[in-house]
Amino acid sequence: MPLNEKMVQDVVKEVLASMKFPEVEAAGEHGVFEDMDEAVLAAGRAQKVIRKMSMDQREKIISAIRRKTHENAETLARIGVEETGMGNVGDKILKHHLVADKTPGTEDITTTAWSGDRGLTLVEMGPFGVIGAITPCTNPSETVICNSIGMIAGGNTVVFNPHPAAVKTSLFAVNMINEASLEAGGPDHVACSVAKPTIESGNIMMNHKDIPLIAATGGPGVVTAVLSSGKRGIGAGAGNPPVLVDETADIRKAARDIVNGCVFDNNLPCIAEKEVVALDGIADELIHDMSAENGCYIIGKDEQEALTAVVLAGGKLNRKCVGRDARTLLSMIGITVPPDIRCIVFEGEKEHPLIATELMMPILGIVRVKDFDEAVETAVWLEHGNRHSAHIHSKNIDNITKYAKAIDTAILVKNAPSYAAIGFGGEGFCTFTIASRTGEGLTSASTFTKRRRCVMSDSLCIR
Ligand code: NAD
Repeated sequence: MPLNEKMVQDVVKEVLASMKFPEVEAAGEHGVFEDMDEAVLAAGRAQKVIRKMSMDQREKIISAIRRKTHENAETLARIGVEETGMGNVGDKILKHHLVADKTPGTEDITTTAWSGDRGLTLVEMGPFGVIGAITPCTNPSETVICNSIGMIAGGNTVVFNPHPAAVKTSLFAVNMINEASLEAGGPDHVACSVAKPTIESGNIMMNHKDIPLIAATGGPGVVTAVLSSGKRGIGAGAGNPPVLVDETADIRKAARDIVNGCVFDNNLPCIAEKEVVALDGIADELIHDMSAENGCYIIGKDEQEALTAVVLAGGKLNRKCVGRDARTLLSMIGITVPPDIRCIVFEGEKEHPLIATELMMPILGIVRVKDFDEAVETAVWLEHGNRHSAHIHSKNIDNITKYAKAIDTAILVKNAPSYAAIGFGGEGFCTFTIASRTGEGLTSASTFTKRRRCVMSDSLCIR
């Protein structure tokens, strides 16, 4: 039998479950400060050094960060799961290798030139200085590493206010980045943080006179806070990505891709499939393929009500359910299922709370619609205007185009699992900061630079 993606993931999980990891040392000192002002000051000093370095020297630091991320992928994945209780070690390892391999470095810093009768004009990408970054608990070290690579490539240094629920993991990554810089001949404190991040330390950072740019990765609250700060903000906010399946899709492949994307790291990535909109003509076949071949467990009305009461207790997202696997979630409502169950599936109206809410857990509600126009309308409604991510399985170019225009998201994956959007089984670079709200889209080193025009009049055109 040919080896497929699910089989590889299952083997990775099995091997990891049987492995014993050495005790992880507490994160070292590099870049971790008691006080936010001290952290900004230290990052400012380091930025003065980085600013004077050649692009080649910056790239050496980034290469060292990539190498150390590969070396520490298992450790970072394990502390991440241990500390937050969310996601799974196997997928988190893959995410760290991905971020190390595919986050753009200095090659993303480019020059635009106009040369003609009146001389030579260049537009170059210069650093902002010290960037403030707020990071989520869902991809904690992945985001710290991804932001650091891009920001340092742009000639900046960075001060993080990481999510308090993932502080140990985030600080481990901060320390690792500074060790990489020192090993590559760079300065200490290229990435800094506070030992105990709070909303207050985040506010100090956002309002600090020496922080000209803030990159916020997280839910709507934090993005709104950053955009109200009076500073330039890059807002990478919440999503609720729908995946649409029409009659022209390869249904068997769609079922497999949707489930693989949905269960990746227990549905923590903001781009992951959160609900399905299926045309009536193929809905039954899709649900059959999801349950018969891809480890989906179909729940009825009573189980949906029980799950809603746990997952959205008192109408609020229960953080104890976020990033848990399907078997754990089912056990919370008294259902025991075999180990190959990976995803919970049910059919419902788009207003169903388990469908309309961004849950970040492997629960996929399926909304049945009569035709493609209703499918587009339903998916647009479910995306809630976040303009973040959406996906489609279709071979009809006109349908795909209509959907793409209507939903207007930063990411639209066609005929693949959602993670193809960040370079995992798809072309293109990786990022864990998708600036949906402010429009930069998938961020990379160039996003963290300012454009500067350099004009030489009537000279240096040598044509
Ligand atoms: P969260 O909003 O709970 O926390 C994000 C960060 O913001 C944390 O560091 C938190 O301490 C901080 N924070 C929250 N309110 C703040 C305020 N008023 N001032 C200063 N700091 C504040 O998000 P989370 O649960 O860690 O992550 C999940 C959410 O993030 C989901 O909505 C997901 O879609 C989104 N997300 C988006 C992206 C993206 O690239 N667009 C990536 C990952 C996660």
